Amino acid sequence: MNNIESSNTVSIKKWKDNLVKQDEIDRYLEDGIDFIDDEAIKAEIEKNSQASPERIRQIIKKAYEIKLMNQADVAALLSVTDDNLREEVFNAAREIKTKVYDNRVVTFAPLYCGSKCVNNCKYCGFRSNNESIERRVLTMKEIEEETKVLAGKIGHKRLIVVYGEHPDTDADYIAKSMKQIYSVKERVRNGSGEIRRVNINAAPLPISDLEKLHQAGIGTYQVFQETYHHKTYQEVHPAGTLKSNYPWRLYALHRAMDAGIDDVAIGVLFGLYDWKFEIMGMVAHARDLEKRYGLGPHTVSVPRLEPASDTDFSWVKHRVTDDDFRYIIAVIRLAIPYAGLIVTNRESPEMLRSVIKMCTQRDADSRVGIGAYADAYTTETEKCENDSQKGERQQFILGDTRSLDAIVRELAEMGHIVSFCTAGYRCGRTGKKIMDALTSGQEGCFCKLNAVLTFQEWLEDFATPETKVIGDQIIEREMDEIKARVPKDFSEAQLKHLEKARQRILTGERDIYF
Ligand code: SAM
Ligand code: SF4
Repeated sequence: MNNIESSNTVSIKKWKDNLVKQDEIDRYLEDGIDFIDDEAIKAEIEKNSQASPERIRQIIKKAYEIKLMNQADVAALLSVTDDNLREEVFNAAREIKTKVYDNRVVTFAPLYCGSKCVNNCKYCGFRSNNESIERRVLTMKEIEEETKVLAGKIGHKRLIVVYGEHPDTDADYIAKSMKQIYSVKERVRNGSGEIRRVNINAAPLPISDLEKLHQAGIGTYQVFQETYHHKTYQEVHPAGTLKSNYPWRLYALHRAMDAGIDDVAIGVLFGLYDWKFEIMGMVAHARDLEKRYGLGPHTVSVPRLEPASDTDFSWVKHRVTDDDFRYIIAVIRLAIPYAGLIVTNRESPEMLRSVIKMCTQRDADSRVGIGAYADAYTTETEKCENDSQKGERQQFILGDTRSLDAIVRELAEMGHIVSFCTAGYRCGRTGKKIMDALTSGQEGCFCKLNAVLTFQEWLEDFATPETKVIGDQIIEREMDEIKARVPKDFSEAQLKHLEKARQRILTGERDIYF
């Protein structure tokens, strides 16, 4: 080790030692223990493992009340193996998604800002002992270049920005990168390309750091617990690493709420442990958030383990089959019915097509390599297929690499409208306000109008002629539906306002929302 390396090692150690605030764990524990009782979860799964079809049907019926489901009912749903009965759960999941979120699907893209990480998670390509990965943190200029492509060429309005856990990507860096992203405005056709919502996927932070992110305009703060099972958690996150601190991670979103961030997102990395246990864990997490803050998670993510460069997966014992994966999504839809449900391009196009009617968000045209968007667009107008999806650049391998335009078109063909709306966060409809409005159907009305406006804007600025044709048909259908719901759900004034706003968009105005 040379002098520079050893002084780096010392400063990283100092940073690590100061990050975790024990008091910001202890204050949330009850009688010194966290809210995941492994044995109780296992017992509940066992106790409800023989649920009758009649009981399952009663549970399905109750799910339409759009309330967090109790653990016994979740456990009963998890026990279903009969295809016909599962189909009834799938039908309910699709209906409940439509009841809360209508036919809208939100699209986003991940932006990876850094591959440096002090942790050594067994499953992740970015783990510290993986020497085949190129380590790098984007400069603010590079973040600007990435954003120009995402907002100006692909047409995204919403990002999930992803960081390894490292002093070079600490809270100050995260806040600065967010401001950089928000500052990019690109001229596109008649309008402009800009990112209007920056969500963050980053390691757990102390409250003072989370306050910085709140001030910088964070959308949703996303931290996946990876596995709720204590023993497995310790096995996959080696002792001595920051990430090995289970309760520090478990209460990351509680701290976010205390820092004023009321849009928080949970997730599990499916494949690490028994998926039934993990769903029970997610519901327990949602319950603890509801109990303390009157508000559950804004979204739930369901990543499945994917191959990663130079990463051995022979130890994995709980791989989730495609059938179970679909069922996981259906059960979560019923169990945490108010939450948005996010699927990602880790999955194949076929899988994404088969589950999208139960979900609310998916990514599109994603690249998970550092600096990969700017690299992929080497000329002003052409998207080039180069090496930016290669293994050594990125955290894991993607299953669906189609363009946003192709995905918007496919979704439109399936009857969905892609909403690029980001109004909620910018006009204070977040957290409890949005959750109450969503479950009562109120927010749904705002969202329906904003989906029309933002989709129209996107079609004008980014769609290929083919996608524009089917996209315009979807908009006309939405307009007819809205008209038919006046005056019951929408007022005459709202309809007039919508029609005028749409005209303004067609003549070049942008970013109009209710
Ligand atoms: N470093 C931060 C953390 O761990 O919370 C955030 C970034 S990390 C790159 C984001 C997520 O990627 C992790 O929470 C994990 O669930 C997921 N991930 C890691 N390795 C993966 C793999 N091999 N396949 C699929 N997802 C993976
Ligand atoms: Fe680092 Fe996150 Fe990957 Fe773990 S999952 S190695 S913390 S980037």
